[in-house]
Amino acid sequence: MTRRRLAFAPLLALLLTPLLAALPTPPPAAVAQSPADPAAARIIGEVFAAGRHMEYVSVLTDRIGSRLTGSEGSRHAEEWAEGEMKRLGLSNVRREPFRMASSWERGPASVALVSEAGPRALGAASYTWTPGTEGALEAELLDVGAGRPEDVARAASRVKGRVALVVPEGADLPAVIYNFYRAPALVRELKEAGALAVLIAADKPHTIVYTAPVDFNAAGRLAALPTLSLAREDVGLLRRLLGRGQTPRVRLDVRNKVGPAFEATNVVGELAGTDPARELVVVVAHLDSNDLGPGALDNAAGCAAVLEAARAFKALGLRPWRTIRFVLWTGEEEGMVGSVAYVERHREELDRTVAALVMDIGAGRPTGWFSMGRTDLDAEIRELSRPLAQFGEFIIEHAAFAATDNAPFMAEGVPNLILLQDEAPYFPVHHTVADTPDKIDPRDYASAVATLAATAYQIADRPRRFGRRLTPEEVKRIADETKVGEQWRAAGIWK
Ligand SMILES: [Zn+2]
Repeated sequence: MTRRRLAFAPLLALLLTPLLAALPTPPPAAVAQSPADPAAARIIGEVFAAGRHMEYVSVLTDRIGSRLTGSEGSRHAEEWAEGEMKRLGLSNVRREPFRMASSWERGPASVALVSEAGPRALGAASYTWTPGTEGALEAELLDVGAGRPEDVARAASRVKGRVALVVPEGADLPAVIYNFYRAPALVRELKEAGALAVLIAADKPHTIVYTAPVDFNAAGRLAALPTLSLAREDVGLLRRLLGRGQTPRVRLDVRNKVGPAFEATNVVGELAGTDPARELVVVVAHLDSNDLGPGALDNAAGCAAVLEAARAFKALGLRPWRTIRFVLWTGEEEGMVGSVAYVERHREELDRTVAALVMDIGAGRPTGWFSMGRTDLDAEIRELSRPLAQFGEFIIEHAAFAATDNAPFMAEGVPNLILLQDEAPYFPVHHTVADTPDKIDPRDYASAVATLAATAYQIADRPRRFGRRLTPEEVKRIADETKVGEQWRAAGIWK
């Protein structure tokens, strides 16, 4: 897999596992149980015995379908989630609006190889938030290699009037992060050099193509050129022809519609705590998806887990010390637009927000937590993981990256964790038509849901505050050490 377009899902993080020190959780017998442990045990039991997370996934995927922010599907999902939070009896249920700088609708798209035997259809799909071709275009293909600045510079004199083929390289973490944040500039540079469109090799098996935004920002800037994912088998064909000294001609017809700014909403509900200081734990996932498939793993699974946590707490009559706020964002796939708007709107609450827990790596078995550059949380994470020992060894990954909705919290120094999960079911279908609920193993998924819920509850109910908010100087140090600051800037989280 080239994994070029990781979009705003945290897969890149998954590649970290071999690179970082893993800290195994000590065996449960080694230490005394914390006071919240009995509640954790009850939550785990409730999720396994009566959990409705699979039903929620089914509503989001089979009934509603794909949920690109601004689409009918997304609107339905926002309404449904608000209704479900109300039906569960959460308090302060509301939808918080934010602005999306432009709207986008997929139209028909075709790519064909023009050959002696007539046009030969190639497997392709437009990336989201990219323009169409304004009528069919036919041009010669030019291989621009991996699409690094030096590759574009080398090809610049020849790319004018041609369609660029990019085959990203590298699957280790630095390569993946590089390719992801390289994409907007790559397409802009190709446009400046006169390219007409860009074909990017898909990193999926069996002709599955990939989608994601190439560029999206608050000012409404979108990808500079029509950009399509091309099935890797067809990339192989084109490269074989090029290798024989031929110059393939391709014919593209892409009819996307780019529209004006609009308002999307995040869906918010709370389980009120008893704490007079009104400290908060936020438990979150993104409701929106990309549009080729119904986004079962990315991220109906996370949303259903957040709702199931709320349902389980209510069913058990639990009332924690701190308030637990459940948030389902939209605009995540376009660059965490919803969570960035949330952090902006709730800025005065960030000092008393003790943690943000994010689930966005599908429905696989839970394996630990990403602590986003923080080592000071290790002891507490290990303690919180003790009641979850039945799900296997938990590890703590310290890597920091801006790839999902924890990023705006991280940039504000608020403790933020992403549930680390087995990525095997996730990678092959991520952002594709094959991201469907049949990829979910119910037992692994229930383990992940129970881990999210039990951990959130323990953080909310334990006497000691979980971690602390970092100072701006400490945030800056993490940003510099891990290079995440560059990503925050690129994503518009840091101005
Ligand atoms: Zn996601």
